[in-house]
Amino acid sequence: MGDILHVDINSFFASVEILDNPSLRGLPVVVGGGGKRGVVCSASYEARIYGVRAAMPVFKALQACPKAVLVPVKIDRYRSYHKQFLAVLDRITPFVETVALDEAYLDISHAHSLLGDNLTIGRKISDDLLAETGLKCSIGIAHNKLLAKLASKAAKPKIVNGIIRDTDPVLLISPEAADPFLERHPVAALPGIGGKTVEKLAQIGIKTVADLKMLPLSTLTAKFGRAQGNWVFDLARGMGSSEVTLNQPRKSLGKEETFAVDLVGLDELSPEIDILAEEVYFAAKRAGLLCRSVSLKVKFSNFEVITRSKTKETPFFSFLELKETVHEIVAKLDLKLSVRLCGVQLSNFVSAARDFYTQKSLFEEKNFNDKDMLEEVTLDVKERFGNKSIRYGMKR
Ligand SMILES: [Mg+2]
Repeated sequence: MGDILHVDINSFFASVEILDNPSLRGLPVVVGGGGKRGVVCSASYEARIYGVRAAMPVFKALQACPKAVLVPVKIDRYRSYHKQFLAVLDRITPFVETVALDEAYLDISHAHSLLGDNLTIGRKISDDLLAETGLKCSIGIAHNKLLAKLASKAAKPKIVNGIIRDTDPVLLISPEAADPFLERHPVAALPGIGGKTVEKLAQIGIKTVADLKMLPLSTLTAKFGRAQGNWVFDLARGMGSSEVTLNQPRKSLGKEETFAVDLVGLDELSPEIDILAEEVYFAAKRAGLLCRSVSLKVKFSNFEVITRSKTKETPFFSFLELKETVHEIVAKLDLKLSVRLCGVQLSNFVSAARDFYTQKSLFEEKNFNDKDMLEEVTLDVKERFGNKSIRYGMKR
């Protein structure tokens, strides 16, 4: 079970406006787009006392809080603070998934030996962010994203009887505490449970997650259909993903080649596919990425296109491993026609850094074997003299 940390900056846009213009401090600040006809993007806690909320029309916010200071959105300012926010997170771990300018998930499972336990890491992020930017955040830590996000929300400052109450900004939910924590939430707090679902559940007297948990799976699937029924059933039990998707623009990396003369049979096709596989593998490696999936695309002389792919539980840790899998796919192709084009694509990337921490212990020489050496040297030569300067030997 991993340790997932969710961090969310408190009233981000409004807080940046206050930092940029300290005379706004303590006032009800509302950041909204498009003047009075626009929508509230962010509101300071002083404005929230009056019921002002994000996504509310600005005119309604001004009705609720006539003293509110309305400030236009300055997205460039928020982006520049976002960069500083990322700099704080990058010091903790490379496993960061940003979900908004002010919100991110971190997988801190591997950060403990360097930085300490979960709470220490949470406090470091909160302290560093405050010291370096002046922004306050809330942090939730749990064994999956669902619980971590609910925890960071629970750690937000509260408005009690019109007074803003700061709380401890870091909330850790241990696996033992997860059930009681989750059960007292209203069903609407669960992600993916929208207004209609909340209504349907209210009709049968289900208001909290504890109520929801009493319903058998069959009742849920009868009410919502199989997919959503299963989804709701799992949510009520606090089951959720703990996979932190790395911030990377690329989802796949591939290369295709159209041949001058159509290729006939496995003997002609196989070496060409090897070359493509090698090129994309090293391109990914250069970017520090390992992949779990490889797919092969073949276009026949009659323009029929087929793709075949394979996904593994663990990444391909070497080119030879990838090549073996590619050959397994190729061997199953029905090559009754000649081939005009083929392509190799890698996807389902994980950072090579993850491999570095989990597959090899940092200072164990014996794990750095000859194959690794060969790949490093190959990468070096390709880097300096071009992709085609060196190739793996081909069996013909
Ligand atoms: Mg926020």
